[in-house]
Amino acid sequence: MISSELNARFREIRDKVEASERLSLEDGLFLYEPEVSLQAVGELANYMRERLNGNVAYYNINTHLNPTNVCVYRCRFCAFRKDLRDESGYAMTDEQVLERGREATANGCTEMHIVGGLHHQRKYEWYRDLISLLKTNFPQIHLKAWTAVEIDWFRFQTKKSFRWVLEDMQAAGQGSMPGGGAEIFHPEVRDQLCEHKANTPSWIEIHKTAHEIGMKTNCTMLYGHVEKAYHRIDHLMRLRELQDKTGGFQVCIPLAFHPDNTQLSDLKKPSGLMDLRTVAISRLMLDNIRHIKAYWIMLGIETAQTALAYGADDLDGTVRHELIYHDAGAQTPEFLSVEQIKQLIREAGREPIERDTTYNRVIRDANDFTQWHSGESVDAELVTA
Ligand code: SF4
Repeated sequence: MISSELNARFREIRDKVEASERLSLEDGLFLYEPEVSLQAVGELANYMRERLNGNVAYYNINTHLNPTNVCVYRCRFCAFRKDLRDESGYAMTDEQVLERGREATANGCTEMHIVGGLHHQRKYEWYRDLISLLKTNFPQIHLKAWTAVEIDWFRFQTKKSFRWVLEDMQAAGQGSMPGGGAEIFHPEVRDQLCEHKANTPSWIEIHKTAHEIGMKTNCTMLYGHVEKAYHRIDHLMRLRELQDKTGGFQVCIPLAFHPDNTQLSDLKKPSGLMDLRTVAISRLMLDNIRHIKAYWIMLGIETAQTALAYGADDLDGTVRHELIYHDAGAQTPEFLSVEQIKQLIREAGREPIERDTTYNRVIRDANDFTQWHSGESVDAELVTA
């Protein structure tokens, strides 16, 4: 395409965004063309980000809990899983789980992010009782637990429906669902990455069911491996379609693939430029999902900070005990202090706001940081995308 055609096509897309019109598959593919300036795509995404979320950037104070790394599946991109008899395989005891809860409370965490492997020998009740143990002992901490892959496995174990599993977990104390396991929905890619675990219709159905029972969820896209731009845009459009029906997604997290120690270790990790373009295009395509997260653990601190000017409005949390991406070679620190994450946001020219898992402002006791309560929803004033 010659430069005048390129400029005219970009102007068409800019006009659509400025008029709050939805972008098409062709628009999304055009924005991935290397000759389209990343700077221009970023500025457009930033315009939309500021219209939706102003000048603020969100973070939370959270911890991760991976109850087991033993997994029946062998996803090609996974560096975390272990075989049943692997000496580095583990399954946490109740006391270890409780210790994590005590540590989280002492550090003022508002959220535990709980995901892990699908252990060959642990029954459904082990997973459900873990939720109930935490909720009973630490009722204030929000449990964002189990990806759709795990919910699909629990259905297989119990022979019940997705709804039954989700309602049972909700009764035990699960508050919301993380967005993992989505990877890339298109079968040309998904079948190469993880042909056995929850398929695309199941992933979509599980999130739809969660939304129907009042459970908010997040969504993700794992990019930078064997997929092409077409698969990424197709993926974003499938998320957008479900959001049109339910409105239950809170945030989308584009996840950069990390190849170390995976079956795809011959691939290179995506460049910082690809990361920024994908964050920006996710912002532009997902006109009905309020928040886009730059997950600093995966992107690296500098790229995540820059992404706050390319469409992202959330950095995730301070994080403790992250294993999944560090096993795959992430070079980021194991956690950030509250002051560090606030400083990163301020350096990016944004105002840091602490949120809880479901995007309410967190109000902390001035004399005791570990005491807190949730205030108003940050999404109270909805803006049209
Ligand atoms: S990504 Fe999840 S389901 Fe796949 S092998 Fe790793 S732990 Fe198991």
